[in-house]
Amino acid sequence: MNIDAIRNGIVIDHIKAGDGMRIYNFLNLGALDCSVALIKNASSTKAGKKDIIKVDRVPDIDLNALGFIDPNITINIIRDSVRVEKYHPELPMKMTNILICKNPRCITTTEQELPHVFVLTDREKHEYRCVYCESRAPAL
Ligand SMILES: [Zn+2]
Repeated sequence: MNIDAIRNGIVIDHIKAGDGMRIYNFLNLGALDCSVALIKNASSTKAGKKDIIKVDRVPDIDLNALGFIDPNITINIIRDSVRVEKYHPELPMKMTNILICKNPRCITTTEQELPHVFVLTDREKHEYRCVYCESRAPAL
């Protein structure tokens, strides 16, 4: 893939240098069958160094979940070689099947078909809690 020119896809920019792999894993980009590029330590006028991820497709992923990792990330959506959207991820109010509840007494451990749902309980502290047992979300 030509990493400078994407026809249809996403560019996740302004990732804190060193966080690229974490985001790659968080979004499970290794499971996609399209081209994915992780660029580490690109020079950035703002922050010195940054990581960038380019995906040669608009994947069916809730990218706002990235706000949980770092709301300063920039998401660019490219269609027909034109950037049609550029935004910072918002802290999602609710995350379904993104985080797994670690509480052994949580109903999700016995009722395996239940989705893992976490809701934002403190926007300042970026705190999420399990809707079933109110355990705090595990750190990523
Ligand atoms: Zn729970």
